[in-house]
Amino acid sequence: MALPQVQRPSYLIIGAGAFGAPTALALKRAEPESEVTVVDRTPFPCPMAAGHDLNKIIRADYIDLMYMKLALKALELWRTDPLYSPHFHNIGYLYSYDEDFLKEIIARWEQLLGKGNAQSFLLDPVEARKKFNGVFEDSDWSMVTQCLYSPTAGWADSAAALQSVMQAAVDLGVRYVDNGAAKVLFGEHGNCTGAVTEDGRTLTADRTILAAGAWIPLLLAESAPDVPEIHTGERLIAVGAPMCAVKLSDEQLEKFKECPVNALLAPLAAECIPPGDKGLLKCTYDTGFSNKVYHEKSRQEMSLPPSKISQSTWSQDIPQTLKDNLKSVKNELFGGWVDDIEPESYRLCWDGFTLNQDWLICPHPKADNLYVAGGGSFHGFKFLPVIGELVVQMIKGELDEEMTKRWAWDGPREGAICPAYTPHKDLGDLS
Ligand SMILES: Cc1cc2nc3c(=O)[nH]c(=O)nc-3n(C[C@H](O)[C@H](O)[C@H](O)COP(=O)(O)OP(=O)(O)OC[C@H]3O[C@@H](n4cnc5c(N)ncnc54)[C@H](O)[C@@H]3O)c2cc1C
Repeated sequence: MALPQVQRPSYLIIGAGAFGAPTALALKRAEPESEVTVVDRTPFPCPMAAGHDLNKIIRADYIDLMYMKLALKALELWRTDPLYSPHFHNIGYLYSYDEDFLKEIIARWEQLLGKGNAQSFLLDPVEARKKFNGVFEDSDWSMVTQCLYSPTAGWADSAAALQSVMQAAVDLGVRYVDNGAAKVLFGEHGNCTGAVTEDGRTLTADRTILAAGAWIPLLLAESAPDVPEIHTGERLIAVGAPMCAVKLSDEQLEKFKECPVNALLAPLAAECIPPGDKGLLKCTYDTGFSNKVYHEKSRQEMSLPPSKISQSTWSQDIPQTLKDNLKSVKNELFGGWVDDIEPESYRLCWDGFTLNQDWLICPHPKADNLYVAGGGSFHGFKFLPVIGELVVQMIKGELDEEMTKRWAWDGPREGAICPAYTPHKDLGDLS
């Protein structure tokens, strides 16, 4: 008598960025017998991914307790897990900000760890200017009322970390396809059955997880142009922020040798990550831009990442206004002595953005077997070590109640964690 066939569960993950790659690893670890396929647009990691970058900030200073807890867990893994620790640089993080905001962060730490146990501490701006080899001596801190220093934070070499996570998944038997998904496929009853690749291959799966970052809205609109309830609408849109990479001389590198990661609230919201092995200082203008275009097939205006690859990877291809803004950001961060140092390259980095910066980690309510994992909203990368397990919990219906509510397709969207990234301008207005 023939033995009954045992069905192996199958999963298709679209996108191998900061949400997709760790989801593949977590799924294969949780269900070694399952078939897990990941499809992205290039061999991994894809240079257009927001997660594919020179570096990303890794910190647990959040004003929101839920993200602080998660970030603390992730930070511990960045420090100790051999998959992540080679990519983590624990050089500290300095917020040059507004006193009330920073005191709120300390209050959150004490709520989590107890009075007097905050992992970060307030630092008088006058003292902060003297520390760190004097690198902030000439910074424009005219609007800074307080600093906060986090000695446990730092930055990660994000492209290398993504590469390691995806490689670990492949080593466990995850299949990687690099032709890109053209469309998500729906069956007769509107249930999701997988995807079709750009070169026409059909990838079928019991469950499909859409983790395509800023490209999620495009994929859903392309897949079901006449079904608006499948589209993301305003709940998740593509938003970009400009950055520049500045090559420093040996002498300048010496000046930066004790520089922590720095975030500056005003006049221009800005961030910088000091140089690692590549000798490149990264400065980010912390403001979000939409890119509204008319999507013919679904007959709607949407914010989508530009179709030119050079407008989502390191290049010279960003509007002159943003180059000028980045020069001001660089000078504001460090003062006149960096005025002559020209950026080597620029980038508009695109993320899936939600109004209050909560993620979407949820079943799609209008298509069975389709799940969404995205909405990184400019702060998702640091969670690389923990996010895959959260997505797996969501698929199994085991996600904690608060997360289930906040990351739902129709979850609450009030109160932004970081209002600076809410897009006030469109890229089209700048060119
Ligand atoms: C300017 C900027 C600065 C940031 N700084 C930080 C920071 O310092 N710290 C931090 O924690 N976070 C930071 N973030 C946020 C972080 O980068 C994102 O939250 C995170 O990368 C989101 O992960 P994701 O998987 O949703 O998207 P991504 O990392 O963009 O990955 C999406 C993947 O989907 C793929 N994809 C797209 N379309 C298709 C398709 N049709 N078929 C198949 N695959 C597809 C892409 O190629 C890509 O690989 C920043 C983001 C930006 C934009």
